[in-house]
Amino acid sequence: MVHAVELIRRKRDGEQLAAEEISELVLAYARGDVPDYQLAAFCMAVYFRGLNGAETFALTDAMIRSGETIELGAAIGRKVVDKHSTGGVGDKTSLAVGPIVAACGVPFGKMSGRGLGHTGGTLDKLESIPGLRVELTTEEFLDQVRDVGLAIIGQSANLVPADKLLYGLRDVTATVDDVSLIAASIMSKKIAAGADAIVLDVKVGDGAFMKTLEDARELGQMMLELGRHAGREVVCLITDMDQPLGSAVGNAIEIREAVATIVGEGPPDFTELVLDACARLLAISDLGVDLDEGRRRVEKAVESGAAVETYNRWIHAQGGDPDLDALPYVVGRYPVLSPRDGYVTRLSAIGVGNAAVRLGAGRLRKEDVIDHAVGVMCYAKRGDRIERGEELAWVLARDEGSAGPAVREVLAAYQFGDEPPPSRSILLEIIA
Ligand code: URA
Repeated sequence: MVHAVELIRRKRDGEQLAAEEISELVLAYARGDVPDYQLAAFCMAVYFRGLNGAETFALTDAMIRSGETIELGAAIGRKVVDKHSTGGVGDKTSLAVGPIVAACGVPFGKMSGRGLGHTGGTLDKLESIPGLRVELTTEEFLDQVRDVGLAIIGQSANLVPADKLLYGLRDVTATVDDVSLIAASIMSKKIAAGADAIVLDVKVGDGAFMKTLEDARELGQMMLELGRHAGREVVCLITDMDQPLGSAVGNAIEIREAVATIVGEGPPDFTELVLDACARLLAISDLGVDLDEGRRRVEKAVESGAAVETYNRWIHAQGGDPDLDALPYVVGRYPVLSPRDGYVTRLSAIGVGNAAVRLGAGRLRKEDVIDHAVGVMCYAKRGDRIERGEELAWVLARDEGSAGPAVREVLAAYQFGDEPPPSRSILLEIIA
């Protein structure tokens, strides 16, 4: 019998808990034998006192053992790769990375989440595509990775059920933003879903969970260690989320931008992140190539049209129509005009993300229904020279009533100056 009060008190007082104690507490909670209020108190004690490496391993391990696990590599007979982002604004990276990597002959199998708050979710974006199913059985998932080389689906119900419960609790008790809890939450799902090699994209900036480079490094390092402890190959990229990624922030418009990128016509920052992440996935795959050769193959897959062919096969396989003309759209396009000459010195990711959510592109509560057609296209980005009256962005809205506040919000996300800001690459650091 687990003595939850005792464990809460000891963590509150700064003690280190034994692996078995953490394991018993988490598994008892997942079985319903420990109530929410005790786990909430425990999470708050962790928030203030932290978990060390051994405790975080124990937490991750217990969460994995709370449900089913998939052995992707063994089931497919190949090393399967995955990529995961900690979440941001305009982050459609997996939608472009998956087809490119699969076109290079590397199996890509991913279970994704939905967006909450100002960050979008891959599943919501995919559901803009008419007919596309994100709920596949584990068997269907495995068959598709085997046959098409690529599947991106919703998380199966019995994968890390402890995280589902715990995340819901953390969300309403102000205990989400703790590095150990986030690392255990993300990595338990990645490890249970079974990929052998993973590229992690830790976002840092005003549109990300991690606001400072120092916190992003700590999270990246922790996730890397958790993955390696479980025998997975992991590379972690720390990337800029101080402005939206690419131009499109929404759902259907992000699908369009992802497809433009896999045919070589994407925005520069997004293209660079996608190509780099793909090359790194190839370098840790079973192809036996280094990063430079990986990059060459990735660029060839884009130039030759192999990546877009794989995209079409993938979308078909999940029941969707890959024709971009089939995507929902709105006719209402409202420009955001520059109030002055000069340079864009800042474009707040969270500002644009919030505007998109209010238009209906995201949800503030789990039960909110998404409007896949609306969103924001940001054409002027940090460092761009602009002129008074120039179109900085477009708000794509159902009507003038919803467009007006969004136009104001997007304009407020821009800052201007007489000099260009120091240039900054999308890729800030790599931990390998
Ligand atoms: N994403 C997750 O899956 N879990 C967290 O705790 C934070 C972001």
